[in-house]
Amino acid sequence: MKLVFPCEENHLKYELHRLCEMFVPEYDPSELNVRVGKGKYSYAALAFLDTKELVIYPAYHYRHPDDLKSTLLHEVGHFAYCDDPDHGPGFKMYYDLLSERQKEIDEEVVPSSYKDFLYARPVRANRYEYICSFCDEIFFRKKRVSLKCSKCHLEMDEKAIVS
Ligand SMILES: [Zn+2]
Ligand SMILES: [Zn+2]
Repeated sequence: MKLVFPCEENHLKYELHRLCEMFVPEYDPSELNVRVGKGKYSYAALAFLDTKELVIYPAYHYRHPDDLKSTLLHEVGHFAYCDDPDHGPGFKMYYDLLSERQKEIDEEVVPSSYKDFLYARPVRANRYEYICSFCDEIFFRKKRVSLKCSKCHLEMDEKAIVS
């Protein structure tokens, strides 16, 4: 039997609306376009604020299906609560609000640690992210290294992600 994870737009939209109704009823997610991204991104999802697009990357969610709900709520925070692509003080307030509401909700969605809510697993386990500026290949490493892209043979750019 093949295990199928329903990473398709209708299911994601349904979950998005259901979770907003439960956790953020003051926000109507109808304005959002939910899209399934392509490529082997190490990210779980990305929020494009200007085009109101929420992109989910299936490669991540096939590996970590339990993270989908908190990922959707995380992205909602960027649109609904702080209108900020980063995780500033407004985003922390959003997390505190969700944690408070989680106490009254049986379905467990909001992680108990803010760090888990902020970062997808590869980022949590690693401190450095390396990106090829030519092909956008991404690697994660626990320690600082000097890396060349395996496809383009170019030196990859370092981005420290967790301080
Ligand atoms: Zn975010
Ligand atoms: Zn490359």
